[in-house]
Amino acid sequence: MLIDAHAHLDLEHYAGDQAEMIERARQTGVERIVNVGIDPPRWDSSLELARRYPGYIFLALGLHPTDILRAGDPEAALARLEQLIVENRGLVIGLGETGLDYYHDDVEPEVQKVYFEKQIDLAARLDLPLVIHCRDAMPDLLATLKAKAVGLKIMMHCFSGSVEEANECMALGENVFISIAGPVTFAKAFDRHEVARVVPLERLLVETDSPFLTPHPFRGRRNEPARVRLVAEKIAELKGISYEAVAEQTGKNVRQLFGVA
Ligand SMILES: [Zn+2]
Repeated sequence: MLIDAHAHLDLEHYAGDQAEMIERARQTGVERIVNVGIDPPRWDSSLELARRYPGYIFLALGLHPTDILRAGDPEAALARLEQLIVENRGLVIGLGETGLDYYHDDVEPEVQKVYFEKQIDLAARLDLPLVIHCRDAMPDLLATLKAKAVGLKIMMHCFSGSVEEANECMALGENVFISIAGPVTFAKAFDRHEVARVVPLERLLVETDSPFLTPHPFRGRRNEPARVRLVAEKIAELKGISYEAVAEQTGKNVRQLFGVA
């Protein structure tokens, strides 16, 4: 079952053709999509979207590390997040994306850490998988996860670290999954190739992060969930196995992690 484990289909990039784009995903064989709402306005737009596609689009909601201050009072935002999750169980299947982003300098690392830890606590309390965003912050991210998230269910979204770092993530518990996105299709993405080759298929997910991270040969254009197939095909090529095996097992992994039917 081919599943796009991470996309942002409620963004303005799809204002003109959202329904057609989702239909293309279905036609390509994408059987579920996890849409990720990254700040309070997008929690609402994500919920609206998921209600229009019951059983097809599921949600992760959270405060993205670079959007913490845009949320107004982040404490109030987190309280509202918890309420939305409790009211929409079954539709909201994950918490995130949350994590650390030292590439963008919108929010101080210390502030990012505070709200990352609060969201880890919230995920533990609500028994929801964490969807983790990490950019240029892997040492601090791993330290935080080792201190606070051992044994939790975790999706390492668009993993960009080394094989060693992937192993450190997986050592946190049996329900930690490494999610591979479009950049694995780039010719010179040697680290990502190595991670896709070495991490066992039982620990891999595939995602698009639409509208971002468009795979080869469409790089530079708007991405969409239909192209998750290109990611799965590249993993199959790197591992020397069939595309069907990758689609089947990564879909199983999404269902195990998020409890999706
Ligand atoms: Zn994302």
